[in-house]
Amino acid sequence: MRLRDKVAIITGSGSGIGKGIARIFAQEGARIVVVDWDNDGGEKSAADIRQAGGTAMFIRCDVSEEDRVKSMVQTTLDQYGRIDILANNAGIGMFKSVLGTSGQDWDRCLDVNLKGVFLSSKYVIPHMQVVGKGAIVNTSSIQTHGGVDNVASYAASKAGVVALTRSMAIDYGPTIRVNAIAPGYVLTPLTESVFDSKEEQARELGLVADQLAMKRIGRPEDIGLAAAFLVSDEASYITGTQLFVDGGLTAKLSIS
Ligand code: NAP
Repeated sequence: MRLRDKVAIITGSGSGIGKGIARIFAQEGARIVVVDWDNDGGEKSAADIRQAGGTAMFIRCDVSEEDRVKSMVQTTLDQYGRIDILANNAGIGMFKSVLGTSGQDWDRCLDVNLKGVFLSSKYVIPHMQVVGKGAIVNTSSIQTHGGVDNVASYAASKAGVVALTRSMAIDYGPTIRVNAIAPGYVLTPLTESVFDSKEEQARELGLVADQLAMKRIGRPEDIGLAAAFLVSDEASYITGTQLFVDGGLTAKLSIS
């Protein structure tokens, strides 16, 4: 087990990719703090881990709210006494161009996707410094590599996550390593919300899968396995970088 007895906070782990990361970290022996603003999803994710023999608790928290984040970190320390790993994964989609994006849309997207990473890191890092070691993995996006239509604020928020990843890696090394994972298309409730019907989803994702070297859409566990590597001692000389876990999507030119 690569993460035996480590304490890992995973934000947005009541659903999708975060839930997959939490499941894999638990399989690797970590004690899990499921953080999400969705009560039902968060409770279920933690209960599923416990049922599988792991250790997990749920803390309801909006990662964009400083006081909530502060108290989430304190509750983790009260329960487990230390923090070794932080996966900053909570995020929302915002599928709009600049002209279609209101000031409120922009603020909401940046508040959750970027400020959320800043706040959780800000309140966790001092406790990693006390332990003398820590690892952070942030969820970015393939849209930090290339653009698609109508994702102005989302793409900007994820580019910010990559820059913040580098910045924190420089500021807090060698004690703390900070990396990002850029997932490709992963089937989660967020991805499903883009489609009007199951038929459209199957058709569109089938077309995407055909274009990929791996010929399939990603699973949350694919991201979890990569994240487990990045936060484990096997990655002890890797920091400030971004790992694309995209089935080969960014390896290929779109016109070929
Ligand atoms: P998801 O299934 O919607 O899971 C995200 C979870 O985070 C949900 O439970 C969501 O709650 C929660 N959340 C949202 N805002 C929050 C906040 N302010 N505080 C606490 N929890 C919050 O989405 P996903 O597809 O797993 O996405 C996870 C991350 O991967 C995101 O950062 C996303 O941008 C990134 N990503 C996903 C893909 C993909 O193909 N799925 C690709 C690239 C990057 P609600 O559902 O109630 O909002």
